[in-house]
Amino acid sequence: MTLTALSAAQLAHRIQRRELSALEVTEAFLERIAQRDQEIHAFLHVTADSARARAKKIDQELAAGRSVGPLAGVAVGIKDNICVAGVPATCGSKILQHFVPPYSATAVERLLAAGAVVLGKMNMDEFGMGSSGENSAYGPARNPHDPSRVPGGSSSGPAAAVAARMAVLTLGSDTGGSVRQPAALCGLYGLRPTYGRVSRYGLVAFASSLDTIGPLTRTIEDLALGLQCTAGHDPLDSTSLPDPVPDYLAALQRSIKGQRLGLVKESIGEGNTAGVRQAVQQTVEVFRSAGAAITEVSLPYTDYGIAAYYLVCCPEASSNLARYAGMTYGTRLSDRDLIATMMTTRGRGFGPEVRRRILIGTYALSAGYHDAYYAKALKVRRLIAQDYRNAFARCDLLLTPTSPTPAFRLGEKTTSPLEMYLADVDTVGPALAGLPSLSIPAGFEGKLPVGLQLIAPPLGEELLLSTAAAFERETGGRYLAP
Ligand code: GLN
Repeated sequence: MTLTALSAAQLAHRIQRRELSALEVTEAFLERIAQRDQEIHAFLHVTADSARARAKKIDQELAAGRSVGPLAGVAVGIKDNICVAGVPATCGSKILQHFVPPYSATAVERLLAAGAVVLGKMNMDEFGMGSSGENSAYGPARNPHDPSRVPGGSSSGPAAAVAARMAVLTLGSDTGGSVRQPAALCGLYGLRPTYGRVSRYGLVAFASSLDTIGPLTRTIEDLALGLQCTAGHDPLDSTSLPDPVPDYLAALQRSIKGQRLGLVKESIGEGNTAGVRQAVQQTVEVFRSAGAAITEVSLPYTDYGIAAYYLVCCPEASSNLARYAGMTYGTRLSDRDLIATMMTTRGRGFGPEVRRRILIGTYALSAGYHDAYYAKALKVRRLIAQDYRNAFARCDLLLTPTSPTPAFRLGEKTTSPLEMYLADVDTVGPALAGLPSLSIPAGFEGKLPVGLQLIAPPLGEELLLSTAAAFERETGGRYLAP
């Protein structure tokens, strides 16, 4: 039996019944990392010693008859912009190369409390800015389905690791698509929860009005488990929602008969590859046979999504990243005088995409341009949110592709930032509107996975889960990554 092929639910179950030890599971994953990560480069930092120590602790607890959590012994990985106490958090940037956070993110604390074993920190586009993983200062991660292609981004490592069975569940962050798009390109489930559903405490800020933390997994049950263990109010995050956490695992069993599924007209036509269009058609048929009613809906402001997203995220990033000045956090280059220190540190510490965004953001906020760019983008954001409210008056949830293409080749889009930005056309809308959205593995184009996106009203995670679970049942899980 290959331990690394088991789901999180299966692993936890067997460990709890002591058919497997947490230590042998941890060793199996560490072994897999040693075999595969040379090529895939999903990890920036492997915490082998602390993982073994934790696994032993869990085995001792079980031997003493004490109860352990629902993720007992499950091998998890954490995107490098989410803090784990005592382990470097570089955010894929040179400027934080030696930064070691003194505390863990709430989402990480909650996974640990559920019994998870953290294997390490994962590769990513610098500060979450990118759609391919190629903006990592430490070199790109690769797509396990075809290592000449990107795994997507910015949660490149979290997606590549799960697809290559080097971890069974990972946490990514999604500002404009960074969990969903890499999940789609790697054949996984990836969830952006409702803004505020999972605490952002301990997530290094990129664009605070958009940032979320979400799980990536190979099965929908594991995704529900990951959300169950991380969701819920946190007094340490002022944007955290107070709403009680429902039983997400129970939602997996619900029928979708009579559910109204809206196919978003603007996102299913030209601009998508043949394989993506075909996956949409097939998926619609699957949902129809499961008893859902399919309607076509329009989101007229879709075309403005990318422009609005970049004019919201860059100003927020320029402000959030002002703290990396060589004073309090991270790398300091030069000590000549204050200005020289800041200029050298920021000029050399940040990569080109991060510098580009700081410049765009600063420009869009500056006197004389603020109203023309930033304030206008906020108005468009409101119109986009209104589009979704109108659509949800007519249907229960929406279906779009997650990405217009499957995984592209390394280097294919690096010379054109705009091409790269367009990889997010389908994912920025729900982000701007704060809506929960889930990418599900829904087909292949050749050997490359294709993902589709389900979008629900605020706090509609159960609806996303029950719909995805119905799809997984109807298709016998045949689109799941090998
Ligand atoms: N790819 C998008 C960007 O570059 C989304 C990033 C994210 O969600 N962190 O901004």
